[in-house]
Amino acid sequence: MLNPLTLSNFKKAALAGSVMLLVVFGVGVVLKATVDNLLYWDATAAAESWARYVAENVTDIEEIAGGAQPSAQSMAFLIRTQQIRHVFGFEIINLYGNIQLSSDGSKISNVRGSVHSEIAANAAALGRPIISVKEGTPPVRPKYYSVAYLPVTVDGSPRAIVAAYVDVSEQREHFRNAFLLAALALCLLIGGAVGIPTIAWYRRTKEKQQADRRIRYLAHHDALTGLSNRAQLIEKLELALAVLSLRGGSLAVHFIDLDHFKEVNDTLGHDGGDFLLKTIAERLRAVTRVEDVVARLGGDEFVVVQTGIASKDQAESFAHRLVSAATAPIALKDQQIAATISLGIALAPVDGTSPERLLKSADLALYRSKADGRNCIRFFLPEMDAALLARIALEKSLRDAVLNESFILHYQPVFEISGHNLIGFEALIRLPAADGTLIPPLTFIPIAEELRLIDKIGAWVLKEACKAATTWPEPLTVAVNLSPAQFKTGNVSATVASALKASGLAPQRLELEITETLLLGNSEFIMKELQTIKAMGVAIVMDDFGTGYSSLSYLWRFPFDKIKIDRSFMQGFDTSGRDAETVVKTIIALGRELKMRVTVEGVETARQVEFLDGADADQVQGYFFGRPVPASEIEAGILTNFQEPHPTKPAVSIHKAGAPMVKLVATN
Ligand code: C2E
Ligand code: MG
Ligand code: MG
Repeated sequence: MLNPLTLSNFKKAALAGSVMLLVVFGVGVVLKATVDNLLYWDATAAAESWARYVAENVTDIEEIAGGAQPSAQSMAFLIRTQQIRHVFGFEIINLYGNIQLSSDGSKISNVRGSVHSEIAANAAALGRPIISVKEGTPPVRPKYYSVAYLPVTVDGSPRAIVAAYVDVSEQREHFRNAFLLAALALCLLIGGAVGIPTIAWYRRTKEKQQADRRIRYLAHHDALTGLSNRAQLIEKLELALAVLSLRGGSLAVHFIDLDHFKEVNDTLGHDGGDFLLKTIAERLRAVTRVEDVVARLGGDEFVVVQTGIASKDQAESFAHRLVSAATAPIALKDQQIAATISLGIALAPVDGTSPERLLKSADLALYRSKADGRNCIRFFLPEMDAALLARIALEKSLRDAVLNESFILHYQPVFEISGHNLIGFEALIRLPAADGTLIPPLTFIPIAEELRLIDKIGAWVLKEACKAATTWPEPLTVAVNLSPAQFKTGNVSATVASALKASGLAPQRLELEITETLLLGNSEFIMKELQTIKAMGVAIVMDDFGTGYSSLSYLWRFPFDKIKIDRSFMQGFDTSGRDAETVVKTIIALGRELKMRVTVEGVETARQVEFLDGADADQVQGYFFGRPVPASEIEAGILTNFQEPHPTKPAVSIHKAGAPMVKLVATN
């Protein structure tokens, strides 16, 4: 179909063509008129001069016109003149138009008025020559010739008419050639004047059309992979849904996201990342049918629309085909890349009847597949909507809190088992929610890690905790939890050093709690970081011990200052009795052997305290002794106790009934 632009271009081209034709036609007409005119004047001049020549030399012309025989002298002259200036014939006519003497170029005949010429009579009546140019048929007559009827006057009055037949073929040819050349030059000139701008305009139009086509292509395609882009995906999905509403059936929208693409991009560089995306795009295209849609929505997100399906199973098996295609190893230079993908599926019409809703449903399913550890396929479920809203709200609160540094730190006391002296606090972060409640760290820390906000949060916690600890009496310590993700950027030791420097806290009063997941990779870099921190005088603590993978192997890899036995053991103590007791005692004994202090976490009941009194642990922490509280609520209590120190117990002391002397207010 022609678009309006093409149509107007077509009109312009037609107009330019018509102008050119008009110019050529006009030049042709002018050429013919000019040639005819010149020929007329030339023929007139030739006929006139011939007639005059005859009139001057044929003294008895009046007599001849009157019907007399020419004199011998005149006849000899007339015979000679027959060939003058292409005159191939002549007539001497009386004033009434009756031809008396006629020559056809080879012989002279005495006609004596037997033939009448109306034109000659007219020329006589008008008293001026009548000349016409005619076309003849060789060899009877020349191709072009002129006939001139010329009145011959003697003493001012006409006496006879002399008609001369002049061959003008040669002149005509000559004029025509000269003018043809001129016309050609004129045409070329006009052609140049009109044609060059026309060609330039045509080329520009062509280029513009090409650019327009490219723009239209880019408006509907992804520039890197050539797949449909979001706009075209929505258009095609709309069409497929319209067909669905008429004919029934179902379609599936597969939302695909490459796992850890950013890391791939960081490792392989931009070109490597692009190569991976292009290869995956080709593979997705290869396993789909022509009527299916494959689109790239930007970044590492792809969407495949599978049309004409009859069941959910069909969508699932196709999703598996997409996964196998996309995750097959890809060779890049001398490396093999093995990408994994997460995939979410939404079905029409059950999960949505508009492109937007379907894409959202598929995206939610993809989101679930990522939350479930990536590298898996998930179908959309209606309850995912609410989960997404909650997640969006949480992400917003998290970003706001990072921006405004509006996190809250709570501090949970840690006590020595023997004498139950307070020895410090563990800093535990909370995120204030919009409704005024506090969101616990286990809910938002993984998201902060995913959003790469953990570095900023970690640095803030360190800074705040060190600052708070400087307000506590010495040698009370502060323990800060570190996420493994913080070590990825490689500036933990620097952050620790700057927090210590800014607060002025003695490094011996800071403890950093890490979990064994940090040591999983057995990275030399992490070991170095930990050693650097330890060398500053800061204690390194193995947190949540006993819950991880192969806990024991990590203990000899790094000289930890302390092991914290995970709170799940205390929770199990009341239900599984002796088994938990045995495990806890074994871990304590292990700590002893490795010269590491041991803290038991999650102590909640008097029974647990009683058991721990008999065990050989060093420290305890748990609701029984004190819940995490805001800094403002502990400082007053500590100060009070330190202002009036107990003679035998320098630190804040508690009694076994679980009522600490410091005012500790539970928050969770
Ligand atoms: P964790 O380091 O093992 O901290 C102890 C957790 O046990 C705290 O939970 C604390 O409130 C809870 N707890 C203490 N005593 C008891 C008890 O007697 N019974 C029970 N049931 N729980 C008790 P919280 O504050 O929710 O923190 C959970 C985890 O979040 C922490 O476990 C730690 O791994 C992480 N976390 C907390 N703050 C931070 C932080 O600033 N940065 C990082 N990266 N992680 C943090
Ligand atoms: Mg901890
Ligand atoms: Mg712990």
